[in-house]
Amino acid sequence: MKNRHEQKLIAPELATTTFKEVALGFDEETAVAEAERCLNCKAKPCVKGCPVGIDIPGFIQELKNKNYINAYTIIKKYSSFPAICGRVCPQENQCEKFCVRNRSGGAVAIGLLERFVADWIYEHEDIKVEKIKQNGKSVAVVGSGPAGLACACELAIKGFEVVIYEALHEFGGVLNYGIPEFRLSKKLLDRELDEAKKLGIKFVKNVLIGRTLTIDNLLVEHDAVFIGNGAGLPIFLGIKGENLNGVYSANEYLTRVNLMNAYNDSAVTPILKKGNVVVVGGGNVAMDAARAAKRLGANVTVIYRRTKDAMPARAEEIAHAELEDIKFQFLTNPVEVIGDEEVESIKCIRMELGEPDASGRRRPVDVPNSEHEIKCDQLIVALGTRPNPIIRSTTKDIKFNDNGTIYTDERYRTSKNKVYAGGDAQSGAATVILAMGAGKVAANTIYEDLI
Ligand code: FAD
Ligand code: SF4
Repeated sequence: MKNRHEQKLIAPELATTTFKEVALGFDEETAVAEAERCLNCKAKPCVKGCPVGIDIPGFIQELKNKNYINAYTIIKKYSSFPAICGRVCPQENQCEKFCVRNRSGGAVAIGLLERFVADWIYEHEDIKVEKIKQNGKSVAVVGSGPAGLACACELAIKGFEVVIYEALHEFGGVLNYGIPEFRLSKKLLDRELDEAKKLGIKFVKNVLIGRTLTIDNLLVEHDAVFIGNGAGLPIFLGIKGENLNGVYSANEYLTRVNLMNAYNDSAVTPILKKGNVVVVGGGNVAMDAARAAKRLGANVTVIYRRTKDAMPARAEEIAHAELEDIKFQFLTNPVEVIGDEEVESIKCIRMELGEPDASGRRRPVDVPNSEHEIKCDQLIVALGTRPNPIIRSTTKDIKFNDNGTIYTDERYRTSKNKVYAGGDAQSGAATVILAMGAGKVAANTIYEDLI
């Protein structure tokens, strides 16, 4: 039985000199050969692992026969943005985890096959949008991340007039300001945004709902509102010295790099490029911040309070970071940021693993007398995010959960009539595919409720 095919990568020594995409995907020959490894299992265990239930063996059989348009049509039934999901979904914990080929040669590379199909279509086909019959109803979508975009596209296809209100000056949410170019090219996002515009969706930027306009204002102009404003409020360490210059949340750091060209010396908000950058955290966001800092010329160390095998980041991202010479210090926790006005070093403590906590993982506990300092010119905190309270503080009758997420029923209806919510704002910080899936289901609920 053949082993799983590997994709090509940019050489590590070149990767850190450019923001270009590092993972190059499959060429046609490799994609077809990889598709041939699929056993077309009757029970379809891989589908059970997919958060949106894509007919995986179905599209792979079409790919095997080089029927790329059919393969794409199958994927698109379930996933709004295959080129994006093929790149950023944690397939190793979803579909690929359940693939029977794990027992012989490795899981079928489902994500890379999805990426191949989407890229092939974009390169070879001019996607045309049929004229859509309008249904006379209008929906406001708050936020242009994957949840908002998926909801908007699905609504537009169903004949709604859709207006997306976005707080920032660019669209796409985390796909634009968070995930860096070396993992997700902006060209791909622009293509998805163009598709959305072809569907007639109107995009309005620089409108912060909760300040410029409220949800109640939107309900005067529109028949319904979908809230997909994400979870962009960073969680900090809560330690002494954290407000010194040179300490950033990962979100702010990545936004400066991705949206505000902060690496140009002439930028309004430049960031330090050389020196020692320390990133705290073990998730995808930490890996993105570390790899971005490396590309700007810094010497980067990631510190994480647990061990490597407990890191929530995708295995692929950790491997890329290691190849790019990013250093890791595990079982280490910062206790103080030291400096005068600027950060100069971080006082850390060693940790060891104790009894399991509520998550089932062994809880890290302090090792007595293990304090030590790490030199640091810039500290990036990547400990997670929660929803921004601006909509909560300006909308009376929407129920929120204790953690600040919006309460909805299973069809994404909030407690306020004609208001729906999905994505990170409703689930807490999660994944692109879950946000996209929620947006799509919410659009179907709006259709059922309004038409
Ligand atoms: P968002 O993408 O956050 O979009 C929300 C949008 O709403 C933003 O554009 C925001 O500006 C706008 N907004 C906020 N408040 C308002 C307001 N009041 N009025 C108007 N607009 C508003 N997931 C993966 O699956 N794979 C990955 O590899 C991955 N990597 C990640 C890397 C980083 C750096 C980050 C931060 C996240 C990553 N994620 C990843 C998580 C994933 O990106 C999110 O789960 C997903 O983007 C959530 O989508 P969303 O539409 O709910 O919110
Ligand atoms: Fe193909 Fe793996 Fe799914 Fe079986 S489990 S149908 S081999 S992708």
